Amino acid sequence: MALLVQKYGGTSVGSIERIKAVADKIIGYRKQGHDLVVVVSAMSGETNRLTALAREIDPEIRGRELDVLLTTGEQVTIALLATALKMQGQDAISYTGGQVRILTDDAHNKARIKSIDAENIRQDLAVGRVVVVAGFQGVDEKGNITTLGRGGSDTTGVALAAALKADECQIFTDVDGVYTTDPRVVAEARRLDKITFEEMLEMASLGSKVLQIRAVEFAGKYEVPLRVLSSFEEGEGTLITSDMNEGDDVEQAVISGIAFNRDEAQLTINGVPDTPGVAFQILGPISDANIEVDMILQNIGADGTTDFTFTVHRNDYDTALKILQNTASELGAREASGNNKIVKISIVGVGMRSHAGIASKMFEILAREGINMIMISTSEIKISVVVEEKYLELGVRALHDGFDLEGDENE
Ligand code: ADP
Ligand code: ASP
Ligand code: MG
Repeated sequence: MALLVQKYGGTSVGSIERIKAVADKIIGYRKQGHDLVVVVSAMSGETNRLTALAREIDPEIRGRELDVLLTTGEQVTIALLATALKMQGQDAISYTGGQVRILTDDAHNKARIKSIDAENIRQDLAVGRVVVVAGFQGVDEKGNITTLGRGGSDTTGVALAAALKADECQIFTDVDGVYTTDPRVVAEARRLDKITFEEMLEMASLGSKVLQIRAVEFAGKYEVPLRVLSSFEEGEGTLITSDMNEGDDVEQAVISGIAFNRDEAQLTINGVPDTPGVAFQILGPISDANIEVDMILQNIGADGTTDFTFTVHRNDYDTALKILQNTASELGAREASGNNKIVKISIVGVGMRSHAGIASKMFEILAREGINMIMISTSEIKISVVVEEKYLELGVRALHDGFDLEGDENE
């Protein structure tokens, strides 16, 4: 008998039929003797629908009221799922994030969990109840409702598993595990039996939305056994682990996966004075506007001036470009320009540490397809390139093929 925290994503609870199917699945686990805490997302499309409604009133809505609105999506599913369980004779109780007391900081729309009061949940479990918790939400110290950022129900699941010291946190979704790349883009993508936390964290940070970044961070930090699996089919899914045993290491491919991010935009300022402090003068106003900068590139200066390029989230493109145009006139730069039709493709693998020549192989594969790289950045276990948006599918497929990621299970 184990204590399991299970999280069901939007598609998995996307209709009444699916909610009933999730209830059946949960009852199956109960019959095997397990205790269950179940985290659910809003029904698929609901968070987007609510956001669109709010934007009809305020196109730039952020902050407190948006959180009050968006958390209603998850509140609907907890009530429906708990009712479905009770209709089948399984005792159950639903809790919003605030009712559990998932305490967060006050950063609306991207709050961080500070603590979880797990006592009520333990008492419910002790009397055989299934506890159904709304994902993606909490409350700050003043009782304001907060949300954890898109995809945040994963983080609710992991945080509850950590607080309850659960035996496993199981993320049920619409694919049957973590693949070498998004199986919706590359049909030949292969499911991984295991992936390290380190690699999963890179994949998530570089755009693989199968798990929210913070969920992976949290699971790594608190050593929560984490598994991604399908809510529609039986199977073992993918275990995210720090414990790749020796046999796996021998088989471990150099590259574990390919991630990509469509939400990128690039900004360039040409002909800025090549003097100390100029990078700060350019990026200071961007960061003051709360815009996160991802990749940064500065050319070697010539004739006392240089060019400076960086990338931001596509949603921040218009604001960032306006700021940069101001900076350009202040600094007497030649020009500020941008491109919001770019994407980032990254290859990830711990095997890169012990293998040389991975970057040149990546560049060769892209060159063969006639894909121009606009920016490049590397770290110990990843190489990222920025390319034009129209090359996304072609680039990802060519790399998947070129690094031999398809084929049979090799673990
Ligand atoms: P949920 O609503 O259950 O949280 P998400 O849409 O957030 O589901 O995440 C699952 C989706 O992640 C899949 O449908 C798939 O398209 C996408 N995805 C991206 N990269 C990967 C990957 N490497 N492996 C598996 N799925 C991936
Ligand atoms: N419903 C939220 C979203 O769509 C949270 C989640 O599903 O994880 O982002
Ligand atoms: Mg998700």
